[in-house]
Amino acid sequence: MRDGRWPKSPLKVMKYVVVSGGVLSGLGKGVTASSIGVLLKSAGLRVTSVKIDPYLNSDAGTMSPFEHGEVFVLDDGGEVDLDLGNYERFLDISLERDHNITTGKIYSKVIEAERRGDYLGKTVQVIPHVTDAVQSWIEDVAKRPADGSDQTPDACVIELGGTVGDIESAPFIEALRQFQFRVGRENIYFVHVSLVPVMGPVGEQKTKPTQHTVKELRGLGITPDVLVCRAETPLTDDAREKLAAFCHVSPNAVMSAHDVSNIYRVPLMLAEQGMCKVLDIDCNVTDLMVRWEKMADRADSSTEEVHIAMVGKYTGLSDSYLSVIKGLQHASLAVGRNLVIDWIEASELETVNDPSWDLLKSADGILVPGGFGDRGIEGKILAANYARTNNVPYLGICLGLQVATIEFCRNVLGLEGSNSTEFDENTPHPAVVFMPEISKTHLGGTMRLGSRPTIFQVEDCKMRRLYGGEESVDERHRHRYEVNPDLIKTIEDAGLVFVGKDETGQRCEIFELEGHPYYVGVQYHPEFKSRPDRPSPPFLGLLQAATGQL
Ligand code: GLN
Repeated sequence: MRDGRWPKSPLKVMKYVVVSGGVLSGLGKGVTASSIGVLLKSAGLRVTSVKIDPYLNSDAGTMSPFEHGEVFVLDDGGEVDLDLGNYERFLDISLERDHNITTGKIYSKVIEAERRGDYLGKTVQVIPHVTDAVQSWIEDVAKRPADGSDQTPDACVIELGGTVGDIESAPFIEALRQFQFRVGRENIYFVHVSLVPVMGPVGEQKTKPTQHTVKELRGLGITPDVLVCRAETPLTDDAREKLAAFCHVSPNAVMSAHDVSNIYRVPLMLAEQGMCKVLDIDCNVTDLMVRWEKMADRADSSTEEVHIAMVGKYTGLSDSYLSVIKGLQHASLAVGRNLVIDWIEASELETVNDPSWDLLKSADGILVPGGFGDRGIEGKILAANYARTNNVPYLGICLGLQVATIEFCRNVLGLEGSNSTEFDENTPHPAVVFMPEISKTHLGGTMRLGSRPTIFQVEDCKMRRLYGGEESVDERHRHRYEVNPDLIKTIEDAGLVFVGKDETGQRCEIFELEGHPYYVGVQYHPEFKSRPDRPSPPFLGLLQAATGQL
């Protein structure tokens, strides 16, 4: 390959690695792309990433978690695809909303420019205007510092969503084809992730679907430098040779991405097969071994289980709560336990003696995550009540804080019919109310979004200790409703103390229940900033309490 083209950081020119996918979605392109980022990072390079989503929505903010998985929230309030969460967690970076490119954003930009008259009377077309806009966008965001320093990144991993051949991704593939000439072929690597299924009585690995997708990609003008093949078991030599021969890729560059015990093993798996050599990067294998292998081994070695009941609405679809699951996993790793999530459909708790009650009661801790809409609300309130009255560790996130506040108002303060105005506009005792600054007519991008400070109101409390004694913490938000400011004093006098508030001192951010081992609610979403080796404090507290380590 193009040996030795990656000098040490800072590089004079930006290097790009484009990761595309073929055959079907859900192959783990995001994990592959993030793992390649880890390898680049181990070589001492500053790494950033861009995710391209070819859908027409401007952003993921209005998309249902049912259909598209969780909406990931960034510091700047960007509501983006969950893959940006993978990048932030794997590479320990903070991205901006512009790092998620969508067709909606690109077309808005081009149409705006057309209305301004920027195209000087020309016919505005997909090629070159849309494809130019895509390339300029990538070049612009790739330069933005992402690792907390003010330094320009050396390398940018670009993940192209969808599968090659989709109509909507065509302009992006064309843009990336042109991009190799704009940045120089030696500065860009194309990695294609594909599926190698197994068929027949002897379990033969079939290469034809991958041959077809590569043929399609090459027909569009992009020749992959590397093939990453998703398979259940390691790719056989036979399959590797066949793929190399039919896909115009060197046999060394056909990588097996077979099933492994946990995702921390993926960077190592790629490194072991020579990914660093193929991409000409000088990986620091020791660093990889020390950090990632240790983490992977730790994840595999904890045998004693901890059960967390997750009481939600999309419990059949774990992608809808991806970052919450990650937050729980990071914290379980830290307390040395094997995490078991017991999924509980909140609405089922509304039936007395439903079997889901047994599951709830057998859990070591209960988590009520964020959510919208009234389905299952009463079930969530019952779960909060169970945790409060039985001293079971509880973490309520956003909606989870709100339902616990409603429960407290109803059952401790005796405010019958208390509710959030989101679920009952005519409630006699609004415990949770619409925030005055929020738009009632526009849904996209109008919530209280992104990073905001929470100031601790007391010298000493569990959460402040968990956050290392800090005076204030910055966490990410995504909500329209808040605890009713008029009720705060009454609630606090009865023992539910709002130990963290916003910078005005009016808005509730964190509560803790006096005299309970761990009954905590946070209005923000701590899951978005959790890292594999730096678990988010509220999650760590939950897991410590659930395992008797707090
Ligand atoms: N629906 C609630 C609100 O808008 C909670 C939002 C959430 O949990 N993200 O305030």
